[in-house]
Amino acid sequence: MKIIDAHHHLTTQPDNLERLAAECERLSVDKVCLFGAGRYGGDYGLAMDDGVRKAMEQCPDLIAAFACFDLGFDPPERVDDIVAQGFKGIKFINPTRNYDDKEFYPVYERMEPAGIPAIFHLGIVAHKPTDKDRDINNNRMRPIYLDTIARAFPDLNIVGAHLGNPWYEEATMSARWNPKLYFDLSGSTLKKKSARFLGDLLWWTPDTRYRDPEGRYAWEKIVFGSDVPPEEIEDVLDDYRTVMAELEVPEEIQAKVLGGTMARLLGIEIGR
Ligand SMILES: [Zn+2]
Repeated sequence: MKIIDAHHHLTTQPDNLERLAAECERLSVDKVCLFGAGRYGGDYGLAMDDGVRKAMEQCPDLIAAFACFDLGFDPPERVDDIVAQGFKGIKFINPTRNYDDKEFYPVYERMEPAGIPAIFHLGIVAHKPTDKDRDINNNRMRPIYLDTIARAFPDLNIVGAHLGNPWYEEATMSARWNPKLYFDLSGSTLKKKSARFLGDLLWWTPDTRYRDPEGRYAWEKIVFGSDVPPEEIEDVLDDYRTVMAELEVPEEIQAKVLGGTMARLLGIEIGR
């Protein structure tokens, strides 16, 4: 059984990596996707790309570093540098236009053959005093835009964060039709929504009349991501396990959610 946390941030606190490594050891978490902060995230105490890359150098078995690419600011060629620097994926947040704007296609075009996953923040971001100046716009981060990207770049593995909160239905229907589009359930969703609510959204199985074109369970499109400080990972892990048990998600599918699927997306084999 492997566990991969597909959504994690590093702060600039000097003991953050140490605390993360200790918790992962205790909880048998094998791998953590650690996101660098974008051009605005650094103001809020988050480590930038360099910081997460150093963390990967310090703990190469545990950490998969993801660079943050600022859509609308960074040139598309930066994707090639990110790959050359050994990052395992790219995170996107706060684009200057909708995620599926054609202006951004050269970015996704470069990622597709590189074989690295794209992780998109979706939906609501926290309210900050600088939002007006920075033109922060949650509407540009709707899950339906990942549907467009998934159709245009069918070999790109895409993970949408927070199940698109609050646009859950867009997220799950897009997941059903796009073979390489996945979502995590990090954020408030697992706390505020019932198992039944999630079951109604993630309803298809290999036996239902309407299905995933590949005949998979809906939960095969969901990955574990925590998006919390190290000491709270256990709580999120418990929430995932509880909701999947309540919905009677088959054991082998639960294993895919907790780590199997993300291992495949990262192209890694984790034995135990
Ligand atoms: Zn996050």
